[in-house]
Amino acid sequence: MTENEAIERIKKESCYSENCHDGCLYGEENCAYSKAISALEEIQQYREIGTVEECREAREKQIPKKCIEDSCPDHTHYKCPSCGKIQKTKYDDSTFGCILNNCSNCGQALYD
Ligand SMILES: [Zn+2]
Repeated sequence: MTENEAIERIKKESCYSENCHDGCLYGEENCAYSKAISALEEIQQYREIGTVEECREAREKQIPKKCIEDSCPDHTHYKCPSCGKIQKTKYDDSTFGCILNNCSNCGQALYD
């Protein structure tokens, strides 16, 4: 059963109707059918964006993370903590690349 079918069934088989709250004992605020329909409609909107995991992953990428400093004897790398792409490399006084606001590989928000 889809959410739309569930919504239609709740509307048909319950006391729910557009005007059912007029004179209703519970009122719109305490109507279980209204709450169920609202919740299902809200879930449908989230589903259009993506799965819960996809939304969580996208949100976490927007929270800036500190670049991982990874040193070799002669140079230092600053890597994206999410995908490991090297953002900046320092050889003594020379710096190659720069830490952008977002990783060019995975989009992770970054800071140094
Ligand atoms: Zn990355």
